[in-house]
Amino acid sequence: MLAHRTNLFGTSGTAAARAAAKAAADAGKEIIDLTAGEIWSELAPTIRDGAIDAINKGVNRYTDTVGMVELREALARKISLDTGQIWKAEEVAVTSGAKQALFNAAMVLLNPGDEVIIPAPYWTTFPAQVLIAGGTPVFVDTRSNGYVPRPEHIKEAVTERTRAIVVNTPSNPAGAVYDVETMMAIAQLAVSCNLWIIFDECYGAFVHEDHTHHPIVSVAPEIRARALIVNSFSKSLALTGWRIGYLAGPKEVINAVKALQSHTTSNPNVIAQHAVLAHLQRDGSDYEGKLRSRLTSARRVGLDVLASLTRVPVARAQGGFYFYLDLSRLLRPGSEDGTSTTADDIVTALLAEAGVAAVSGTAFGDPAGLRLSYGIPPEKLATGLARLVEFLNAWK
Ligand code: PLP
Repeated sequence: MLAHRTNLFGTSGTAAARAAAKAAADAGKEIIDLTAGEIWSELAPTIRDGAIDAINKGVNRYTDTVGMVELREALARKISLDTGQIWKAEEVAVTSGAKQALFNAAMVLLNPGDEVIIPAPYWTTFPAQVLIAGGTPVFVDTRSNGYVPRPEHIKEAVTERTRAIVVNTPSNPAGAVYDVETMMAIAQLAVSCNLWIIFDECYGAFVHEDHTHHPIVSVAPEIRARALIVNSFSKSLALTGWRIGYLAGPKEVINAVKALQSHTTSNPNVIAQHAVLAHLQRDGSDYEGKLRSRLTSARRVGLDVLASLTRVPVARAQGGFYFYLDLSRLLRPGSEDGTSTTADDIVTALLAEAGVAAVSGTAFGDPAGLRLSYGIPPEKLATGLARLVEFLNAWK
């Protein structure tokens, strides 16, 4: 018999979609996998060399629980540059990816029954972690506003139990970049209602066209004492498997996170820490910029192909590396003959009939959505999207 807690979560919807794609490929089908939450890329030379150096030096010990001091100092310098403010090492905890940073934040901030406002569609792990930490996720629908929450809708969702608001820009899954006015209004609300802001900027390195990524603490410096910045190198350096992220915020929070992490994972992998430190100290190659321009051209090609969709609106994909489609007009929520069609059905048929793997919006709290990653090799992307357009245009 398992703990009741296990009823609060299942395998993440994105992981399940990836597994379905792999199963189909293992069964011999030729699959184009557009489910990935990561970028196809070679390793950054600075990362490779930093890791090899560390191994050659025989590095093998525990580090400080929330990361080597030199790395925390380098991260504090990076955050200072990103935000235009002074940040110190003691305000930064290095974590095993952004996922652990978010989990730590939920565990040290939430009491049972505390509510956390999450704009929807949302990255699937936000509500799962709130539930695991004993809190209650409260969703604010963004679909009628280009996938950016309206501050007045957030305000309506605030109760005396509200403890925090999640702000994820550029967003997963919709690729929306929040405008400055929206962030200012959310920040003001946080101040007036005494709330925390959990600011997830994992996709901040990738904004497209004339959009700009603004850290919320720069937009509204008055919220610094109630803001937690979450970021990682998983997306920006295509390092998903290396598991280095960070949480930055008030010292008391970081100290609590340090104590928590000392009982859970201890320090993140030491070789990966050295690699990221070497990158932060030595990178002159603008590896991130190379990834960004690769993604920008993939986005342009992809949006051109998707423009041929006849009944399916596509979000503007302002940031990150996802296309997000609205399948509402293809769905039959429950017709007279008792049958219905959901986004899940379309995703299953898309994989079986067109050999294209995508993630259903149900993983993101949106029964009509479909997410496609464009962080894959360009030839595969073009073929996958052409198949998808043909399939969806013919859908009855
Ligand atoms: N936050 C968002 C919005 C994400 O999409 C992801 C990964 O997909 C993460 C956090 C987790 O990133 P990491 O791999 O660094 O744990």
